[in-house]
Amino acid sequence: MSSQVKLLGPAEIRDLAELLGVTPTKKLGQNFVIDANTVRRIVRVAGVEAGDSVVEIGPGLGSLTLGLLEAEASVVAVEIDGRLAEQLPMTVGVQADAPAAGRLTVMHQDALRVTELPGQPSRLVANLPYNISVPVLLHFLEHFASIRAGVVMVQSEVGQRVAAEPGSKVYGAPSVKAAWYGSWRTAGQVSRQVFWPVPNVDSILIAFQRHAAEPGDEALRRRTFEIVDAAFQQRRKMLRQSLSVLLGDSATASAVLTRAGVEPTSRGEQLAVADFIAIARAAQ
Ligand code: SAM
Repeated sequence: MSSQVKLLGPAEIRDLAELLGVTPTKKLGQNFVIDANTVRRIVRVAGVEAGDSVVEIGPGLGSLTLGLLEAEASVVAVEIDGRLAEQLPMTVGVQADAPAAGRLTVMHQDALRVTELPGQPSRLVANLPYNISVPVLLHFLEHFASIRAGVVMVQSEVGQRVAAEPGSKVYGAPSVKAAWYGSWRTAGQVSRQVFWPVPNVDSILIAFQRHAAEPGDEALRRRTFEIVDAAFQQRRKMLRQSLSVLLGDSATASAVLTRAGVEPTSRGEQLAVADFIAIARAAQ
């Protein structure tokens, strides 16, 4: 049996924004979901179950937060905008019954700077602020090992890129870094019409499942990410060239690549995360 929760629709979103004097800003990526079906779809795709502990980045006016509470999850919501963070418990107090409202913790913070969360959230579910979607995703995966799976809504191109496989035209540094932490898939397009204001980009859901064990320790991760950044900064160049500055010179880069079992003339877009890890190990 789900909790007694009333989700927000277009009228409630408009009223709340008016009450708070909120004019959504592009800078904070404020496009609020006004459609309850979309909220339920995200919660369903995320596989949220009663008793789950979920962290939400950027709860905004509370559209998705209420959907998560309806599914009987506990929610930690991290919001940078003080007016929205302050209002959220009140909105939930009105829209949800007391047990559901009691499962919400709001943190008024910049999600990019959060290094501690109450409890041990096992899922990340969010409609991410688009301008920081990749950095904030990687930040959470890096700092919160308790997060085992999740679903986030991002700009379509970004989602395709994060979930891309080697060899794909959109495969890049975000794809490799995301693959360090887990496996990713796209999980459906979302219409622009479900947002207020209507954004000028398309949106997509992406889902991830964290690997059972991380491929290496923090030092190896940092070195691997440095190599990934260098490889994709000059994505058309052969790796022995693009890694030459980082590794010393082109002859050293060739030797490291050969030791790692990677062709020195190959390009970053052809390599899987395991290859980048092999290069990082060989560079030690
Ligand atoms: N979850 C809500 C929804 O679906 O309607 C709002 C999503 S809106 C795309 C993004 C939200 O992230 C906004 O509420 C914005 O204020 C918040 N935000 C932007 N930058 C943030 C940051 N660095 N840390 C935490 N929240 C942030």
